[in-house]
Amino acid sequence: MTKREEIKKFISLYLRSRFTVSEMPEDECDTEAEFILQYLHSQGVVIKIGGEWCTQHGYPIPCHKCGARYGQARIEPLIKGEE
Ligand SMILES: [Zn+2]
Repeated sequence: MTKREEIKKFISLYLRSRFTVSEMPEDECDTEAEFILQYLHSQGVVIKIGGEWCTQHGYPIPCHKCGARYGQARIEPLIKGEE
């Protein structure tokens, strides 16, 4: 499970625990979770992937190709397909 799927699942489970099925049907929890993720995405929220990566070669730091000791954190958008 990717981080974004994990986050979406958490929001859905949270909504499920807060509302009864008659107040919020099962599939509506997913729709609401998606809506929240869309909003966060529109505000520039991204998922940071652990560690730093060589900006030139894409290897983890320290880069085994150029020896770079500083790189950049890799990020992933909250919404799939928005890379
Ligand atoms: Zn490198």
